[in-house]
Amino acid sequence: MITLALMEDSAPRPAPQAITTANPADRPVYVIGGGPGGLATAYALRAQGIRAVVVEKADGVGASWRRHYDRLHLHTTRRLSALPGLKMPRRFGRWVAREDVVRYLEKYAEVHELEIVTGVEVTRVERTPDGTGWLLRATGGRELVGAAVVVATGYNHTPHLPDWPGRATFTGDLTHASGYRSGKDYAGRDVLVVGVGNTGAEIAVDLVESGAARVRLSVRTAPHIVRRSTAGWAAQYTAILVRRLPVRLVDRLARPMARLSVPDLSAHGLPRPDTGLYSRVKDGAIPVQDVGLIDAVRKGQVEIVAAVAEFADASENSVKDGGTVLLADGSRISPDAVVAATGYVRALEGLVGHLGVLDERGRPVAHGARPPKDTPGLYFTGFTTPISGTLRELAIDAERIAKAVRRQLR
Ligand SMILES: Cc1cc2nc3c(=O)[nH]c(=O)nc-3n(C[C@H](O)[C@H](O)[C@H](O)COP(=O)(O)OP(=O)(O)OC[C@H]3O[C@@H](n4cnc5c(N)ncnc54)[C@H](O)[C@@H]3O)c2cc1C
Repeated sequence: MITLALMEDSAPRPAPQAITTANPADRPVYVIGGGPGGLATAYALRAQGIRAVVVEKADGVGASWRRHYDRLHLHTTRRLSALPGLKMPRRFGRWVAREDVVRYLEKYAEVHELEIVTGVEVTRVERTPDGTGWLLRATGGRELVGAAVVVATGYNHTPHLPDWPGRATFTGDLTHASGYRSGKDYAGRDVLVVGVGNTGAEIAVDLVESGAARVRLSVRTAPHIVRRSTAGWAAQYTAILVRRLPVRLVDRLARPMARLSVPDLSAHGLPRPDTGLYSRVKDGAIPVQDVGLIDAVRKGQVEIVAAVAEFADASENSVKDGGTVLLADGSRISPDAVVAATGYVRALEGLVGHLGVLDERGRPVAHGARPPKDTPGLYFTGFTTPISGTLRELAIDAERIAKAVRRQLR
């Protein structure tokens, strides 16, 4: 890895620092973000003979994976999670641990000698005034001019905390899942986890296994739950097989499979969902891969409660110091701590919103090898939630984007 660290400092700068290339033909392609998507794309561009420079705001690659909670393992298989040009070592096991993902990404950048600038955040992407390239405005007044830009900033960097009434004045211990590291920090405590995506489900199990006194899981919409693997057959294999079938057909096929493999948890507050599995995926909700939730719910170690409606301060209603949480079914609970596993926002508005390339939900209108119609040379990767595994799709997209850029630059 060739790393050029440009950390911010507080000293005044005489003039904006520019990394520009005078001759348009010599301009590199800038890749914004040094996560798996950005690294894979930089490698694929290099393989096409194109100079790619990754600009990463953190001080190293794989920043999202460094921040995730300790217990996390990939729920996609090692083989189907590797990026182009480097296998994940066998010793990482079938379900790769978070810290091994970080090791792999570091190794990936090193082995492929990727050109990476760290400590620089791109704040805005614009067309160059002459329309021949892309101008990236970055921290410290830097201006970078590229022949094309690949936005690979991921969707895990800006936590989403719903604007629950009373939240702003709540004095209890409320943490977004992005700040959660380990259940050990909650041993002996009564914890409410809000949200039953993969993160909320796994954090609830982690809390049980780490000795929390009580674990409740607040659920607004009952999730689809699938076994990570059945008799050695990974759920991801099925997902890859069905991903191009009609959504309604997959919804129908998934119903009996769920009945066979996942017990009915209705009596515990988790009924089977009434909308289809693939319809939900298309709406952005990946099924929960079971890493212990089913057992924990059956044993009563994780209690399912209604959605959070409101927070109230300790002084008003609570018997504990932390405050009270009012649930949608009218009940009030007073946990010692609340962990909000309520997801992230893509937060692309500041970066590219002015280019008219985002839909009403802030998602890029095009992704992969296809740039948005009016912005040739601007690519997005990693902003979809494919049923077949994001890492796998990032790897495929990387090679497609690189070929599209090569065609564009010809
Ligand atoms: C908890 C969790 C578990 C997951 N497990 C799996 C799994 O098992 N299998 C799977 O296939 N997928 C999984 N995913 C989904 C996906 O593979 C990962 O989110 C993956 O990290 C996405 O890669 P990315 O490169 O798109 O984004 P990221 O890994 O988030 O990388 C984006 C990078 O861009 C940087 N950045 C952001 N904004 C800027 C800016 N303006 N300027 C410069 N740099 C910037 C960030 O610092 C970050 O390093 C998981 C996701 C989460 C949240």
